[in-house]
Amino acid sequence: MSFGPCWDMLVYMTEATDNPIHGARAKARCDALGVPPYSDQKDGLFRPYLGPAHHATLGCIAQWMDEAGMSVEIDAVGNIVGHYAGIPADAPVLLLGSHVDSVRDGGRYDGMLGVMLGIETVAFFHAQGRRFPFAIEVIGFGDEEGSRFSTYMMGSRSAAGLEQEIDDTIRDSEGITLHRALADWGLSVQRFGTARRQNVLAYLEAHIEQAPHLERAARPLGLVRGIASQYRYRVTFTGLADHAGTAMGERRDALAAAAEAIVSIEAVGAAGPDDLVTTVGVLQVENGAPNVVPGQVVMTMDIRAVTPGAREAAAGEIRSMLDALSRKRQVTVQVERIQDLQGALCDETLNRMLGEAIVETTGEEPPLLLSQAGHDAMVMARCAPMSMLFIRCAGGISHNPAESVTVSDVEAAFDTLTRVIEKFGEDR
Ligand SMILES: [Zn+2]
Repeated sequence: MSFGPCWDMLVYMTEATDNPIHGARAKARCDALGVPPYSDQKDGLFRPYLGPAHHATLGCIAQWMDEAGMSVEIDAVGNIVGHYAGIPADAPVLLLGSHVDSVRDGGRYDGMLGVMLGIETVAFFHAQGRRFPFAIEVIGFGDEEGSRFSTYMMGSRSAAGLEQEIDDTIRDSEGITLHRALADWGLSVQRFGTARRQNVLAYLEAHIEQAPHLERAARPLGLVRGIASQYRYRVTFTGLADHAGTAMGERRDALAAAAEAIVSIEAVGAAGPDDLVTTVGVLQVENGAPNVVPGQVVMTMDIRAVTPGAREAAAGEIRSMLDALSRKRQVTVQVERIQDLQGALCDETLNRMLGEAIVETTGEEPPLLLSQAGHDAMVMARCAPMSMLFIRCAGGISHNPAESVTVSDVEAAFDTLTRVIEKFGEDR
């Protein structure tokens, strides 16, 4: 596939080449990519997987990777990969990455900042003509957010070599199948296997914090201890739709059952370890009317935890509670698991190096954070040791145009990444 020139970006590149303040350039590039044609939304940012904005964005990223001394490829799933060779040429790979897709009305830094910081890190070493006994690859995953199809983390799952079930039922809101969207880019599911990254020593991801802990602690950077495992369910309560005049003792009210369940689900989350969270985010009353006892209610349930086993224990407890509720209220409760995302703990050796690099950069021990949000890093942990660096984000707000980072924090992240790569080189 070919990409046109990236005219809008030339001004950033020229200015920044004369004055290579890497954090500032990384942030400026995220800002430049926050508007059309790098967004499929006129006002604000929406960069769905395999859309026109994604295509335009990869054109710019390819150019920047090339200028930073990397060879560039778009893999079979639409991830962009820049390769900065090590010595020897077939040396194993240190992978730096994050995602380039965004939700609708998204922010400019979620995902993209990690990719831009990876490019800056390579540009820094390339300018000095430095090579390491390992290659550095920068990867921009195409589908992390699941903002176009009902898929999620397809980019990193392919890069990690995980099997994925993809059929023609997977369509976007306009009815375009995933197969069709891939074919429009010259890509196909049959070739996903070739997207598996080979010979990966470690995966490092820099990402904005999607919580306000760093801001509250007045620290620019945090070290991630682990990423929560997630279960997501669809829960259907089926009672009996009946006239609102039905006596209280004769009802099989699906909504009242759901209401009792929601409060109990919340209580299970509150009683568990600090990192256990339980959420009912969607509640739908089928054929609801003011004069009808609700006959059927469908809701979602999300359970997350970092502590190994905590998610499974909470799911079991909730299941028992729902069974008891079903008997008590004479309402059928059907529970379908629609997502099972395995969490990951960051690698201790990598975290020690990253922690030292943060201390050298900021002069302070970094806060150790847990990520309740999912990241590509949790998938990449299945194929290599993984670690994550969190960057302070105003108010901890993300997936929102209000997402905001400071140049000095991004610069600190850049310094930390270059230091950790040097440490990684010393360890070889
Ligand atoms: Zn993200």
